[in-house]
Amino acid sequence: MKKTMFLCVLSIFLLIGCSEVAFNPNEEPAGSQSNYDMKLSMDNNGLFSADVSIDILNVSNEKWDELKLYFIPNMFTSENSPYLNTPSKVEIESVKIENQDASYSLEKDTINIPLKTSVSPNESVSFQMKYHFTLPTDGVRFEKIDSNYHLAQWYPMVPTYQKGWNKQDYTSEGESYHTTFSNFNLTVDIPKEYTLVTTSDEDRLLSVSNNTFRIEKVKEIFVALLKDPQVIQKKSDNVNIRVFGTGESEEFLDEVSETAVESFHYFENIIGPYPHKQLDIILDGLGMEYPGVVTAGSLKGRSVTNERIKEMVIHEIAHQWFYGMVSNDPYTDGWLDEGFAEFATSLFLMPNEKELGYIDLSNKLEPLPSNLPLHKYLNGTQSNYIYGQSRSNLAKIFNQHGGKQTAEDFLSRYFTLYKYKEVDTEEFVRFMKFYLEIKDDSLFESWLALENTKNE
Ligand SMILES: [Zn+2]
Repeated sequence: MKKTMFLCVLSIFLLIGCSEVAFNPNEEPAGSQSNYDMKLSMDNNGLFSADVSIDILNVSNEKWDELKLYFIPNMFTSENSPYLNTPSKVEIESVKIENQDASYSLEKDTINIPLKTSVSPNESVSFQMKYHFTLPTDGVRFEKIDSNYHLAQWYPMVPTYQKGWNKQDYTSEGESYHTTFSNFNLTVDIPKEYTLVTTSDEDRLLSVSNNTFRIEKVKEIFVALLKDPQVIQKKSDNVNIRVFGTGESEEFLDEVSETAVESFHYFENIIGPYPHKQLDIILDGLGMEYPGVVTAGSLKGRSVTNERIKEMVIHEIAHQWFYGMVSNDPYTDGWLDEGFAEFATSLFLMPNEKELGYIDLSNKLEPLPSNLPLHKYLNGTQSNYIYGQSRSNLAKIFNQHGGKQTAEDFLSRYFTLYKYKEVDTEEFVRFMKFYLEIKDDSLFESWLALENTKNE
């Protein structure tokens, strides 16, 4: 094709493209951008040592005079969790800025470091920390379960910087930490008898003592060390889906594996492509999502049914899109990933001909919006609003606007527009009103606090 003709065709394409995309997504800028270099080792007695180095680029428009990082392992020490039978031990060996010893404070899950030299926009700062720790037996996601080790949020994590460091106090009710897409080099050195399961899609079943991974564009890194796990591997398209059990029946593992493959395939089809080559499902611990890995409870000694665990698996897999790629602050807008994981799960489970299930919760719950910051809910009540009320109201909206097919098309469009971006409630409502041609806020006001009502 001649160049002029090519340009002509190209400009026609662009014109068509522009007239179709009359909607411009606005993202919430992350303000910080991090590259992590992490070494993690465990000895035969369950003592972990970590050496973490982070290059943090200031992509905000403010000058930084201090750094604030999450350090969640510290929440499980006897000082911060006196009720634990076996709390974690945490010992920090060194904290450095630009390879020089730095003064710092550690309070609860916050590391605070005043900077001797401030960091201007577009400049970066390097942070190093060496520390040692053991895992508690009754922690939350950071715990030893029988002879297996689950390491979630085990390293110093860089918050987003949005009008200051966006670092909230830790709470085990909901997720109080918010990080943005980052790159990681991870080296893990563990005793040979453990199977390593991580966010990386290159961990193999055969354990080698030294494992080095490069993982790009993920919000966090999860690591599990499993002793003699059961495993089933199946392919969905080109993705390897592994299910790890720690004492389940073969039959149940098979069922879970089938559910995982079917729901994964459905989500890839209706929402968009999954970014990794592998997805791991560990049947143990609390139901939880991490990039490339999910945990989803076990039948062992728990009063939970097969069906409940399978639903949990579907929900956590849906998070690979809503959390894993479309980001939101789980402290202030947790419903955007929880409500959507619930909603996508219900789409997968529903028969085609049926209406999306709407449950009127207004008589059962104190009326509160689904997008309050976590500390504004009474303990133990937030999931009613963040999961249930939001899912139900999404169903109600789609029942009035095209049903299941429109809901599926919407998820795909929403994902394509906001992939690797951060969304908040206002932006979501702006997009939904545009997409479904909704004229006012009346479908949202009963369950979301919108900007004009939020600060009352
Ligand atoms: Zn969830």
